Amino acid sequence: MHTDINKILVTHDQIVERSKELAKEITLAYKDRKAPLLVALLKGSIPFLAEFMKHLNMDIEVDFMDVSSYEGTESIGDVRILKDLDQSVKGDNILLVEDIVDTGKTLKQVSKMLYNKGANSVEIVTLLDKPERRLVDVKADYIGFVIPNEFVVGFGLDYNEKYRNLPYVGVLKDELYL
Ligand code: 5GP
Repeated sequence: MHTDINKILVTHDQIVERSKELAKEITLAYKDRKAPLLVALLKGSIPFLAEFMKHLNMDIEVDFMDVSSYEGTESIGDVRILKDLDQSVKGDNILLVEDIVDTGKTLKQVSKMLYNKGANSVEIVTLLDKPERRLVDVKADYIGFVIPNEFVVGFGLDYNEKYRNLPYVGVLKDELYL
């Protein structure tokens, strides 16, 4: 375990196993529908995207968006688009891929944007869900793990851009939060 980590909340094995289950569930859910365009939100969702998409048994496409509303450990203000999608989403079934749903503000705004661009449907798959922190009405359709109200890092999630490469999800030692 990394020396900055206080405790592990979700192990690598658990993430691998759950990603397979989610991919199976999602493949089944789209059996009679147009296969989804995966829209992954940079950068935190990348390890989870890579882990679960290889188990999707259908012809999906992938695109990326980068939005920001977050600094340090507190959510601030509205969502800004730092990188928009490369392709049109008109008529597409979109599966938004997120690392964590916290206040829900990011996904609420991004879903709205995608519907405005003409998406047929927008669903959400997230590795982690922190329902205690929700400020707006957003529900992920597919959830890896529900976690308590703690700031976590690892498996894509950062603290000031560090720890994204950890193979598990954990909580930092208290003295590291400035
Ligand atoms: P929301 O808009 O739901 O409040 O925030 C979503 C974004 O906030 C996530 O994509 C993630 O980047 C960041 N975030 C929320 N909670 C945590 C957390 O516990 N750890 C880290 N590293 N980022 C978080």
